[in-house]
Amino acid sequence: MSHEEFPTDRPAVVTCGLPYANGDLHIGHLRTYVGGDVYTRALRKLGQETAFVSGSDMHGTPVAVNAEEAGVSPEEFALEWHETYEETFPKFGVEFDNYGHTHDETNVETTKEIVRTLDENGHVYEKEIMVAYDPAEDQSLPDRYVEGTCPYCGATARGDECDEGCGRHLEPGEIEDPRSTITGNPAEYREQTHKFFRVSAFQDYLSEFLDRLEGTANARNQPREWIEGELRDWCITRDMDWGIDYPDGEEPRSSENTESGDGSDLVLYVWVDAPIEYVSSTKQYTERVGADVFDWEGAWKDDGDIVHVIGRDIIQHHTVFWPAMLRGADYGEPRAVMASGFITLNGKGFSTSRNRAVWADEYLDEGFDPDLLRYYLATNGGFQQDVDFSWERFRERVNNELVGTVGNFAYRSLLFAYREFGGTPDADLSSEVRDRIEDAIDDFTAAVNDYSVRDAGDAAVSLAAFGNEYIQQNEPWNLVDEDPERAAQVLRDCVQVAKAVSVLFAPVAPGTCERLWSQVGGDGSVHDVTVEAALSPPAAEFDEPDELYEKIPEERVEELNAKLAERVEAADDGAADDGAADDGAADDGAAPDLEPLEPDRIGFEEFQDLDMRVGEILDAEGIEGADKLARLVVDIGVEERQIVAGIKQLHDLDSLPGTRVIVLANLEQAELFGVESNGMVLAAGDEAALLTTVGDAVPGERVR
Ligand SMILES: [Zn+2]
Repeated sequence: MSHEEFPTDRPAVVTCGLPYANGDLHIGHLRTYVGGDVYTRALRKLGQETAFVSGSDMHGTPVAVNAEEAGVSPEEFALEWHETYEETFPKFGVEFDNYGHTHDETNVETTKEIVRTLDENGHVYEKEIMVAYDPAEDQSLPDRYVEGTCPYCGATARGDECDEGCGRHLEPGEIEDPRSTITGNPAEYREQTHKFFRVSAFQDYLSEFLDRLEGTANARNQPREWIEGELRDWCITRDMDWGIDYPDGEEPRSSENTESGDGSDLVLYVWVDAPIEYVSSTKQYTERVGADVFDWEGAWKDDGDIVHVIGRDIIQHHTVFWPAMLRGADYGEPRAVMASGFITLNGKGFSTSRNRAVWADEYLDEGFDPDLLRYYLATNGGFQQDVDFSWERFRERVNNELVGTVGNFAYRSLLFAYREFGGTPDADLSSEVRDRIEDAIDDFTAAVNDYSVRDAGDAAVSLAAFGNEYIQQNEPWNLVDEDPERAAQVLRDCVQVAKAVSVLFAPVAPGTCERLWSQVGGDGSVHDVTVEAALSPPAAEFDEPDELYEKIPEERVEELNAKLAERVEAADDGAADDGAADDGAADDGAAPDLEPLEPDRIGFEEFQDLDMRVGEILDAEGIEGADKLARLVVDIGVEERQIVAGIKQLHDLDSLPGTRVIVLANLEQAELFGVESNGMVLAAGDEAALLTTVGDAVPGERVR
């Protein structure tokens, strides 16, 4: 079954993945929000009734852990970040109809209601499981409180997610060699009773759901692998204080083997109440504007078109758990999931702890128009592709496309029309130009139905490029005296193209297009009109236009790069004195807590069992779908090896070929993200500094 094309006569809801309320936003974080905002505005341009909602994720162990470090309560900690996000998004033109948070009353109530319904419908059961526990601290270790080895791929993993290896969601008790992330103590497993959501009962439903699901290819294809095998039930409670209490009167008790607790601490797993915030936030929007303006219940329970815009690390939550939860609680299902690719900075991962980032505030403080960044983030690659940000590339795209194409066309056309005619010349739109604008509208409409924010932006920029060629070829400045009628015709066409660009480019560049719209004498706001306005006659009179975009000089790029380099250096020198929030384990580089030495000695024979060779990297490329993994081809003299290494974000892969490395050649083979790994490249520390040789060892020589 395929869905009816947009625009439909049903209400649509576009949601953005909730940001964890635990740290400053950098421009990498903004990619999803800008994407969601562009997509929402584009839907509305087609006349689609749409609500755009999100909220801050207040719960879960990332917030609890960081609050503990900061010495404040999780609520206080998360609320402060929530307020920061609420202020920051609109500064980038990201305008949610409602932006709530998961700890507000609406979400607490909605969550309890949904979980109660799941329970009543027979989708929840109790089970005794083994959970990680810190005996020294007398504390349970849910999710990020525990670290260990992934049972599927052997990578270091967090309690609920193999974030550096295979990317799987991990259930409590699955992680091997568990240790506490707070104290570093080895953890024990103890028995405790928890609630489980019967995801396995939804296997057939999910398989059909995925056939219907629209959106980016990664979000539609990746979940197949997860649901083809045995689908496991999902533990939906956690033994901690911070979160939403399990809704029924009867609290799950801990088992008799455990002294841990009295059971009163069991809260819902953060991934239960987080997506429910999408519903709660829509509900709050309805409460504010009235159900006659937007009916949240109709949208979520009957036949709404729900589009989730997320980062690709949470595809599984949105294509397996969430639709099963919605189904089990008698709600409708998502129509589409758009999952964005990863974003890097100058070829390497963003690192909040090393200050290796372009911060959202910093971008604005530099005086750049938010539309420039929106354009870059929305169109520098397909939504699901990885995108690299560099100031150099930013400058290039601003100068060539925004200034050179869009701005240049609009300014020269409108200025000339203003000077010669005081506005739009009195002539009919030529059929050639009408056809071209209609084509642009068709491209734009197709892009929306294809969930491509890049193509939606390109439709407008290509139209502006056409306008530039058109004015250049027809040279109205030479026609004014010789053939004024023809000059009027050409400029009439050009003003129409400028107006069409303001309409079609408005989702990507809302601020500058609003200016362009008023420059062509448009009534009201460009954000209130639909694509039909691209062909409605422009005003007979308008004022002298000004330029929409400014060129970025080369010196600015040097200056910005120098600032970034200085900051990273200062962060490295200053070690860990900032205590700032961290968005991942791998970027926690500055002052590592050194592991104690192994107490047991090994014999020389055991060392000799390790066949370590000098190698030379021949080729390095990222593995599609894996945030951290790279596929290396390494020459180890005797043969070439394909080796998977978790270094994608930490090194500029293009610069690796030619690098000498040390390879553990007789490590057993493994498969990571479907790619065979034959050996291990040795590296040290959280930044994966590669081991190499000083001197002329050649590939294949043995390490002794
Ligand atoms: Zn794994």
